[in-house]
Amino acid sequence: MRFRDLRAQYLALKTEIDNSIQSVLDSSDFILGKPVAELEGLLADYVGRRYCVSCSNGTDALQLSLMALDIKKGDVVFTSDFTYFASACSSSILGATVVFVDIDERTFNISPIALEKAIQRCIAEGTLTPKVIVPVDLFGQPADYTKIIPIADKYGLKIIEDGAQGFGGSINGKLACSFGDISTTSFFPAKPLGCYGDGGAIFLDDDIINQRLRSLRALGKSSEDKYDNREFGINSRLDTIQAAILIAKFKPFVEYELDAVNKVAKWYTEQLEKKVITPFVPKDFYSSWAQYTIMFKDTQSRKKVQEALKQSGIPSMIYYPRGLHQQRAYESMCLSSELYPNTIKATQRALSLPMHPYLNKAEVETIAKIITENI
Ligand SMILES: *Cc1c(COP(=O)(O)O)cnc(C)c1O
Repeated sequence: MRFRDLRAQYLALKTEIDNSIQSVLDSSDFILGKPVAELEGLLADYVGRRYCVSCSNGTDALQLSLMALDIKKGDVVFTSDFTYFASACSSSILGATVVFVDIDERTFNISPIALEKAIQRCIAEGTLTPKVIVPVDLFGQPADYTKIIPIADKYGLKIIEDGAQGFGGSINGKLACSFGDISTTSFFPAKPLGCYGDGGAIFLDDDIINQRLRSLRALGKSSEDKYDNREFGINSRLDTIQAAILIAKFKPFVEYELDAVNKVAKWYTEQLEKKVITPFVPKDFYSSWAQYTIMFKDTQSRKKVQEALKQSGIPSMIYYPRGLHQQRAYESMCLSSELYPNTIKATQRALSLPMHPYLNKAEVETIAKIITENI
Protein backbone atom coordinates (compact mmCIF):
# COMPACT_ATOMS: atom_id res chain seq x y z
CA MET A 1 0.00 0.00 0.00
CA ARG A 2 1.14 3.55 -0.70
CA PHE A 3 0.73 6.55 1.59
CA ARG A 4 -0.54 8.74 -1.24
CA ASP A 5 -1.06 6.62 -4.33
CA LEU A 6 -0.01 8.88 -7.19
CA ARG A 7 0.33 5.89 -9.48
CA ALA A 8 -3.31 4.84 -8.99
CA GLN A 9 -4.31 8.41 -9.77
CA TYR A 10 -2.14 8.52 -12.89
CA LEU A 11 -3.62 5.26 -14.18
CA ALA A 12 -7.14 6.59 -13.60
CA LEU A 13 -6.41 9.82 -15.49
CA LYS A 14 -3.78 8.50 -17.92
CA THR A 15 -5.42 9.46 -21.22
CA GLU A 16 -6.05 13.11 -20.29
CA ILE A 17 -2.63 13.55 -18.70
CA ASP A 18 -0.71 11.89 -21.53
CA ASN A 19 -2.56 13.98 -24.13
CA SER A 20 -1.92 17.15 -22.18
CA ILE A 21 1.82 16.46 -21.91
CA GLN A 22 1.99 15.49 -25.59
CA SER A 23 0.41 18.77 -26.66
CA VAL A 24 3.16 20.71 -24.84
CA LEU A 25 5.81 18.59 -26.55
CA ASP A 26 4.12 19.28 -29.89
CA SER A 27 4.09 23.04 -29.28
CA SER A 28 7.58 22.98 -27.68
CA ASP A 29 6.58 26.13 -25.86
CA PHE A 30 8.18 24.99 -22.62
CA ILE A 31 8.43 28.27 -20.72
CA LEU A 32 5.30 30.38 -20.05
CA GLY A 33 3.41 28.64 -22.85
CA LYS A 34 -0.35 29.01 -23.26
CA PRO A 35 -1.31 26.41 -20.60
CA VAL A 36 0.33 28.55 -17.88
CA ALA A 37 -2.01 31.51 -18.41
CA GLU A 38 -4.94 29.12 -18.96
CA LEU A 39 -4.27 27.41 -15.63
CA GLU A 40 -3.92 30.75 -13.83
CA GLY A 41 -7.34 31.79 -15.15
CA LEU A 42 -8.93 28.46 -14.24
CA LEU A 43 -7.60 28.48 -10.67
CA ALA A 44 -8.34 32.17 -10.00
CA ASP A 45 -11.97 31.57 -11.06
CA TYR A 46 -12.25 28.44 -8.94
CA VAL A 47 -10.84 30.03 -5.80
CA GLY A 48 -12.81 33.21 -6.40
CA ARG A 49 -10.01 35.75 -6.78
CA ARG A 50 -9.02 38.24 -9.45
CA TYR A 51 -5.48 36.97 -9.96
CA CYS A 52 -3.45 33.80 -9.84
CA VAL A 53 0.30 34.09 -10.33
CA SER A 54 1.94 30.70 -10.84
CA CYS A 55 5.53 30.05 -9.77
CA SER A 56 8.08 27.28 -9.22
CA ASN A 57 6.92 25.91 -5.86
CA GLY A 58 4.98 26.66 -2.69
CA THR A 59 8.03 27.98 -0.85
CA ASP A 60 8.73 30.54 -3.58
CA ALA A 61 5.03 31.46 -3.55
CA LEU A 62 5.42 32.43 0.12
CA GLN A 63 8.74 34.20 -0.41
CA LEU A 64 7.46 36.17 -3.41
CA SER A 65 4.36 37.21 -1.43
CA LEU A 66 6.53 38.45 1.44
CA MET A 67 8.80 40.29 -1.02
CA ALA A 68 5.76 41.94 -2.59
CA LEU A 69 4.87 43.29 0.87
CA ASP A 70 8.50 44.48 1.35
CA ILE A 71 9.06 42.26 4.39
CA LYS A 72 12.61 42.67 5.70
CA LYS A 73 14.86 42.75 8.74
CA GLY A 74 13.11 44.33 11.72
CA ASP A 75 9.70 43.03 10.66
CA VAL A 76 7.83 40.30 12.49
CA VAL A 77 5.93 37.48 10.81
CA PHE A 78 3.67 35.31 12.95
CA THR A 79 3.09 31.71 11.93
CA SER A 80 2.04 28.38 13.35
CA ASP A 81 4.64 26.42 15.32
CA PHE A 82 3.30 23.14 13.91
CA THR A 83 3.85 23.20 10.16
CA TYR A 84 6.29 22.44 7.38
CA PHE A 85 9.55 24.43 7.64
CA ALA A 86 8.75 26.47 4.50
CA SER A 87 6.02 28.43 6.31
CA ALA A 88 8.74 30.12 8.38
CA CYS A 89 11.92 29.73 6.31
CA SER A 90 10.45 31.98 3.58
CA SER A 91 10.36 34.87 6.09
CA SER A 92 13.67 34.10 7.78
CA ILE A 93 15.52 34.08 4.48
CA LEU A 94 14.38 37.69 3.94
CA GLY A 95 15.81 38.67 7.33
CA ALA A 96 12.46 39.00 9.10
CA THR A 97 11.90 37.65 12.62
CA VAL A 98 9.43 34.79 12.84
CA VAL A 99 7.30 34.45 15.95
CA PHE A 100 5.92 30.94 16.33
CA VAL A 101 2.42 30.51 17.71
CA ASP A 102 1.00 27.44 19.45
CA ILE A 103 -1.83 25.51 17.81
CA ASP A 104 -5.40 24.67 18.69
CA GLU A 105 -5.18 21.08 19.92
CA ARG A 106 -8.33 19.97 18.10
CA THR A 107 -7.65 21.34 14.60
CA PHE A 108 -3.80 21.44 14.64
CA ASN A 109 -4.14 24.95 13.17
CA ILE A 110 -2.79 28.21 14.64
CA SER A 111 -4.61 29.16 17.85
CA PRO A 112 -6.25 32.60 17.47
CA ILE A 113 -5.96 33.10 21.25
CA ALA A 114 -2.24 32.33 21.30
CA LEU A 115 -1.83 34.48 18.18
CA GLU A 116 -3.29 37.59 19.79
CA LYS A 117 -1.14 37.06 22.90
CA ALA A 118 1.97 36.76 20.72
CA ILE A 119 1.11 39.98 18.88
CA GLN A 120 0.56 41.81 22.16
CA ARG A 121 3.86 40.52 23.59
CA CYS A 122 5.65 41.70 20.47
CA ILE A 123 4.08 45.16 20.63
CA ALA A 124 4.92 45.42 24.36
CA GLU A 125 8.57 44.59 23.69
CA GLY A 126 8.59 47.37 21.12
CA THR A 127 11.84 46.50 19.32
CA LEU A 128 10.43 44.95 16.13
CA THR A 129 7.50 45.79 13.86
CA PRO A 130 4.64 43.29 13.57
CA LYS A 131 3.71 43.04 9.90
CA VAL A 132 2.25 39.76 8.69
CA ILE A 133 0.37 36.68 9.90
CA VAL A 134 1.00 33.46 7.96
CA PRO A 135 -1.80 31.09 8.98
CA VAL A 136 -1.36 27.58 7.59
CA ASP A 137 -4.28 25.47 6.30
CA LEU A 138 -2.80 22.36 7.85
CA PHE A 139 -3.66 18.84 6.69
CA GLY A 140 -6.24 20.25 4.24
CA GLN A 141 -8.37 22.27 6.65
CA PRO A 142 -8.48 26.07 6.49
CA ALA A 143 -7.20 27.89 9.57
CA ASP A 144 -9.85 29.70 11.59
CA TYR A 145 -10.10 32.87 9.49
CA THR A 146 -13.37 33.85 11.16
CA LYS A 147 -11.17 34.70 14.18
CA ILE A 148 -7.84 35.45 12.50
CA ILE A 149 -9.07 38.16 10.08
CA PRO A 150 -10.53 40.34 12.89
CA ILE A 151 -7.22 40.02 14.79
CA ALA A 152 -5.24 41.08 11.69
CA ASP A 153 -7.59 44.06 11.24
CA LYS A 154 -7.33 45.04 14.91
CA TYR A 155 -3.52 45.23 14.82
CA GLY A 156 -3.14 46.41 11.23
CA LEU A 157 -1.41 43.25 10.01
CA LYS A 158 -1.53 41.60 6.58
CA ILE A 159 -2.45 37.95 6.14
CA ILE A 160 -0.52 35.65 3.83
CA GLU A 161 -2.46 32.39 3.81
CA ASP A 162 -0.20 29.34 3.45
CA GLY A 163 -2.65 27.12 1.58
CA ALA A 164 -0.03 24.60 0.41
CA GLN A 165 -2.01 21.78 2.04
CA GLY A 166 -5.39 23.45 1.99
CA PHE A 167 -6.28 23.77 -1.69
CA GLY A 168 -9.88 22.62 -2.18
CA GLY A 169 -10.86 23.14 1.47
CA SER A 170 -13.40 25.77 2.46
CA ILE A 171 -15.29 27.59 5.20
CA ASN A 172 -18.99 28.12 4.56
CA GLY A 173 -18.36 27.43 0.87
CA LYS A 174 -15.61 30.09 0.66
CA LEU A 175 -12.52 28.37 -0.69
CA ALA A 176 -9.02 28.10 0.74
CA CYS A 177 -6.61 30.55 -0.93
CA SER A 178 -9.29 33.25 -0.81
CA PHE A 179 -8.71 34.22 2.84
CA GLY A 180 -5.39 36.07 2.82
CA ASP A 181 -4.58 39.51 1.47
CA ILE A 182 -2.31 37.18 -0.47
CA SER A 183 -2.70 33.39 -0.47
CA THR A 184 -0.31 30.72 -1.66
CA THR A 185 -0.41 27.07 -2.57
CA SER A 186 1.91 24.28 -3.67
CA PHE A 187 1.53 21.73 -6.47
CA PHE A 188 4.15 19.36 -5.05
CA PRO A 189 2.97 15.90 -6.19
CA ALA A 190 1.60 14.81 -2.80
CA LYS A 191 -0.42 17.99 -2.12
CA PRO A 192 -4.21 17.91 -2.66
CA LEU A 193 -3.77 19.21 -6.24
CA GLY A 194 -0.32 18.07 -7.33
CA CYS A 195 1.69 18.21 -10.54
CA TYR A 196 4.55 15.92 -11.61
CA GLY A 197 7.41 17.94 -10.20
CA ASP A 198 7.52 21.26 -8.37
CA GLY A 199 4.97 23.99 -8.78
CA GLY A 200 3.18 26.71 -6.83
CA ALA A 201 0.78 29.61 -7.12
CA ILE A 202 -0.20 32.88 -5.48
CA PHE A 203 -3.77 34.22 -5.31
CA LEU A 204 -4.80 37.80 -4.73
CA ASP A 205 -7.11 40.62 -5.81
CA ASP A 206 -4.79 43.64 -5.77
CA ASP A 207 -3.81 44.84 -9.23
CA ILE A 208 -0.54 46.52 -8.23
CA ILE A 209 0.69 43.55 -6.19
CA ASN A 210 -0.26 41.26 -9.09
CA GLN A 211 2.02 43.27 -11.41
CA ARG A 212 4.77 43.32 -8.81
CA LEU A 213 4.59 39.53 -8.31
CA ARG A 214 4.84 38.92 -12.06
CA SER A 215 7.95 41.07 -12.08
CA LEU A 216 9.46 39.52 -8.93
CA ARG A 217 9.08 35.98 -10.30
CA ALA A 218 11.13 37.09 -13.34
CA LEU A 219 14.13 38.67 -11.56
CA GLY A 220 12.36 41.99 -11.16
CA LYS A 221 11.96 42.72 -14.86
CA SER A 222 9.69 45.55 -15.95
CA SER A 223 6.48 44.56 -17.69
CA GLU A 224 7.40 46.42 -20.90
CA ASP A 225 11.02 45.40 -21.38
CA LYS A 226 12.40 42.03 -20.28
CA TYR A 227 15.95 43.42 -20.03
CA ASP A 228 14.98 46.44 -17.97
CA ASN A 229 15.29 45.30 -14.34
CA ARG A 230 13.83 47.62 -11.74
CA GLU A 231 14.47 45.59 -8.59
CA PHE A 232 15.86 42.27 -7.37
CA GLY A 233 13.59 39.30 -7.90
CA ILE A 234 13.96 35.55 -8.20
CA ASN A 235 13.58 33.20 -11.16
CA SER A 236 10.43 31.27 -10.34
CA ARG A 237 8.15 30.16 -13.14
CA LEU A 238 5.78 27.22 -13.46
CA ASP A 239 6.86 24.97 -16.35
CA THR A 240 4.38 24.72 -19.21
CA ILE A 241 4.37 20.91 -18.87
CA GLN A 242 3.40 21.16 -15.20
CA ALA A 243 0.64 23.64 -16.04
CA ALA A 244 -0.70 21.25 -18.69
CA ILE A 245 -0.67 18.35 -16.19
CA LEU A 246 -2.52 20.51 -13.65
CA ILE A 247 -5.17 21.46 -16.20
CA ALA A 248 -5.77 17.77 -16.89
CA LYS A 249 -5.93 16.98 -13.15
CA PHE A 250 -8.04 19.96 -12.13
CA LYS A 251 -11.38 18.70 -13.48
CA PRO A 252 -11.32 15.32 -11.70
CA PHE A 253 -10.03 17.12 -8.59
CA VAL A 254 -13.15 19.27 -8.31
CA GLU A 255 -15.57 16.78 -9.84
CA TYR A 256 -14.84 13.77 -7.68
CA GLU A 257 -11.48 13.58 -5.93
CA LEU A 258 -12.49 16.04 -3.20
CA ASP A 259 -15.65 14.02 -2.56
CA ALA A 260 -13.63 10.82 -2.61
CA VAL A 261 -11.16 11.92 0.07
CA ASN A 262 -14.04 13.12 2.22
CA LYS A 263 -15.62 9.70 1.87
CA VAL A 264 -12.35 8.03 2.90
CA ALA A 265 -12.11 10.35 5.92
CA LYS A 266 -15.66 9.41 6.92
CA TRP A 267 -14.86 5.67 6.72
CA TYR A 268 -11.75 6.16 8.86
CA THR A 269 -13.61 8.18 11.45
CA GLU A 270 -16.48 5.68 11.71
CA GLN A 271 -14.00 2.86 12.30
CA LEU A 272 -11.64 4.70 14.63
CA GLU A 273 -13.49 7.32 16.66
CA LYS A 274 -14.04 5.08 19.65
CA LYS A 275 -10.36 4.15 19.90
CA VAL A 276 -8.32 7.26 19.09
CA ILE A 277 -8.87 10.99 18.70
CA THR A 278 -10.03 11.41 15.10
CA PRO A 279 -9.71 14.69 13.15
CA PHE A 280 -12.01 17.51 14.21
CA VAL A 281 -13.68 19.40 11.38
CA PRO A 282 -15.63 22.36 12.83
CA LYS A 283 -19.13 23.10 11.57
CA ASP A 284 -19.10 24.85 8.16
CA PHE A 285 -15.48 23.77 7.52
CA TYR A 286 -14.59 21.43 4.66
CA SER A 287 -11.21 19.70 4.39
CA SER A 288 -9.34 18.63 1.28
CA TRP A 289 -7.60 16.01 3.44
CA ALA A 290 -3.97 16.55 2.58
CA GLN A 291 -3.53 14.29 5.62
CA TYR A 292 -5.79 12.20 7.83
CA THR A 293 -4.17 12.56 11.23
CA ILE A 294 -5.17 10.80 14.43
CA MET A 295 -3.98 11.35 18.00
CA PHE A 296 -3.04 8.59 20.45
CA LYS A 297 -3.10 8.84 24.20
CA ASP A 298 0.70 8.73 24.37
CA THR A 299 3.89 8.23 22.34
CA GLN A 300 4.14 4.52 23.24
CA SER A 301 0.75 3.61 21.76
CA ARG A 302 1.58 5.58 18.62
CA LYS A 303 4.86 3.70 18.31
CA LYS A 304 3.19 0.32 18.81
CA VAL A 305 0.50 1.00 16.20
CA GLN A 306 2.96 2.43 13.68
CA GLU A 307 5.11 -0.69 14.07
CA ALA A 308 2.09 -2.99 13.60
CA LEU A 309 1.03 -1.08 10.46
CA LYS A 310 4.56 -1.35 9.11
CA GLN A 311 4.57 -5.14 9.70
CA SER A 312 1.51 -5.31 7.43
CA GLY A 313 3.11 -3.16 4.74
CA ILE A 314 1.05 -0.06 5.56
CA PRO A 315 2.94 3.23 5.58
CA SER A 316 2.15 5.97 8.09
CA MET A 317 3.91 9.26 8.77
CA ILE A 318 4.64 11.47 11.75
CA TYR A 319 3.69 15.02 10.75
CA TYR A 320 5.51 16.71 12.40
CA PRO A 321 8.16 15.21 14.67
CA ARG A 322 9.12 18.63 16.09
CA GLY A 323 7.75 22.14 16.34
CA LEU A 324 9.42 24.93 14.40
CA HIS A 325 10.66 26.38 17.71
CA GLN A 326 12.62 23.14 18.11
CA GLN A 327 14.30 23.31 14.71
CA ARG A 328 18.08 23.65 14.82
CA ALA A 329 17.92 26.62 12.44
CA TYR A 330 16.04 28.54 15.16
CA GLU A 331 18.19 27.30 18.06
CA SER A 332 19.69 30.75 18.62
CA MET A 333 16.24 32.12 19.52
CA CYS A 334 16.34 29.93 22.67
CA LEU A 335 12.58 29.31 22.63
CA SER A 336 11.07 27.41 25.52
CA SER A 337 8.64 24.59 24.79
CA GLU A 338 6.44 25.95 27.59
CA LEU A 339 4.90 28.37 25.09
CA TYR A 340 3.90 25.47 22.81
CA PRO A 341 2.11 22.78 24.84
CA ASN A 342 -0.27 21.80 22.03
CA THR A 343 2.48 21.56 19.44
CA ILE A 344 4.47 19.34 21.80
CA LYS A 345 1.45 17.11 22.38
CA ALA A 346 0.89 16.75 18.63
CA THR A 347 4.56 15.99 17.91
CA GLN A 348 4.44 13.20 20.48
CA ARG A 349 1.07 11.66 19.71
CA ALA A 350 -0.11 12.41 16.15
CA LEU A 351 0.07 9.92 13.29
CA SER A 352 -0.99 10.45 9.67
CA LEU A 353 -2.55 7.50 7.84
CA PRO A 354 -2.64 6.69 4.11
CA MET A 355 -4.98 9.17 2.43
CA HIS A 356 -5.84 9.73 -1.22
CA PRO A 357 -8.91 9.64 -3.48
CA TYR A 358 -8.26 6.12 -4.74
CA LEU A 359 -8.31 4.30 -1.36
CA ASN A 360 -11.21 1.87 -1.09
CA LYS A 361 -13.35 0.93 1.87
CA ALA A 362 -11.75 -2.50 2.30
CA GLU A 363 -8.30 -0.90 2.55
CA VAL A 364 -9.53 1.59 5.14
CA GLU A 365 -11.09 -1.27 7.12
CA THR A 366 -7.82 -3.22 7.04
CA ILE A 367 -5.90 -0.20 8.35
CA ALA A 368 -8.51 0.55 11.02
CA LYS A 369 -8.53 -3.09 12.15
CA ILE A 370 -4.77 -3.12 12.70
CA ILE A 371 -5.01 0.11 14.68
CA THR A 372 -7.87 -1.02 16.91
CA GLU A 373 -6.24 -4.41 17.55
CA ASN A 374 -2.94 -2.88 18.58
CA ILE A 375 -4.02 0.00 20.72
C1 LIG B 1 4.56 21.78 1.05
C2 LIG B 1 4.40 22.97 1.87
C3 LIG B 1 5.02 24.21 1.54
C4 LIG B 1 6.03 24.34 0.46
O1 LIG B 1 5.66 23.89 -0.79
P1 LIG B 1 6.80 23.41 -1.82
O2 LIG B 1 6.07 23.36 -3.11
O3 LIG B 1 7.27 22.07 -1.36
O4 LIG B 1 7.88 24.43 -1.81
C5 LIG B 1 4.74 25.31 2.32
N1 LIG B 1 3.93 25.22 3.38
C6 LIG B 1 3.33 24.08 3.74
C7 LIG B 1 2.43 24.07 4.92
C8 LIG B 1 3.56 22.90 3.02
O5 LIG B 1 2.98 21.77 3.40
